[in-house]
Amino acid sequence: MYPERSEGYYGAWHTVIAKLSVADHHSKIYTSYMNLTNPLWYQDPKIQNFVSLFSQEKLTKEEKSFKHEVLTFLKQNHFYIADQGYDWDKWRLPIDTAIIHHTSSSPTISLNELNILGLRLYINQYLTDADVKNQPLYSGHYWFGKNHAKENATFVSYHYLVRPSGKIIQLVDDKAYLWHAGNLEVNRRSIGIALAGKFIDKEPEAAALAAARTIIKDHKISSENIFGHCEISKTKTECPGNLFLSSWKAKLFA
Ligand SMILES: [Zn+2]
Repeated sequence: MYPERSEGYYGAWHTVIAKLSVADHHSKIYTSYMNLTNPLWYQDPKIQNFVSLFSQEKLTKEEKSFKHEVLTFLKQNHFYIADQGYDWDKWRLPIDTAIIHHTSSSPTISLNELNILGLRLYINQYLTDADVKNQPLYSGHYWFGKNHAKENATFVSYHYLVRPSGKIIQLVDDKAYLWHAGNLEVNRRSIGIALAGKFIDKEPEAAALAAARTIIKDHKISSENIFGHCEISKTKTECPGNLFLSSWKAKLFA
């Protein structure tokens, strides 16, 4: 259906092959880093702090650099994930809604980085949800088109990524239950479409809007069931940008 489904990078997660070679890294933060081979590594206070920074509106310079360094650390290292675990997809309902996001990043954001950004949502869930607390991380989701082997596991939080060129990348199967809308009921019935880039005060490229429209059409989603993340999230967000309602939402179903 879509011209290209992947961009060639697939994060490989291995059970206990953590490359914790401190000497590889320049930063002093790394020298005191946690052991990612521990099945409950995500409970480390540094990781908990990293996750909590995402819900803060203003970050100090130190917090910003800490956040960036943990992100980089996770991107560069293998961490423990379980072979089996909680079935998130049992919450899924028939799809009738599309939620539009922007990645709030460079338009060339890598799938690896997207994966780690999604991972922090899983970590948050495993830290707070009684159903999974004190269990090793498990997503049960796999890069689209790959077999369901552990090395193909992914923690991305959108179903589709759209590049400025209009290239569509399906990240995971539509039946994956993902946290992206900031609203549990909406997550159950929606697909998440992320436009790669930062569109706080600008409109996405015409090719990207056309591609998003194609995805929406393919899923037979009606115009009244298309929402920006900011319209339905229970916590405040600018996603997918301040011009969404006034200037470009209508272009998604024109
Ligand atoms: Zn969003």
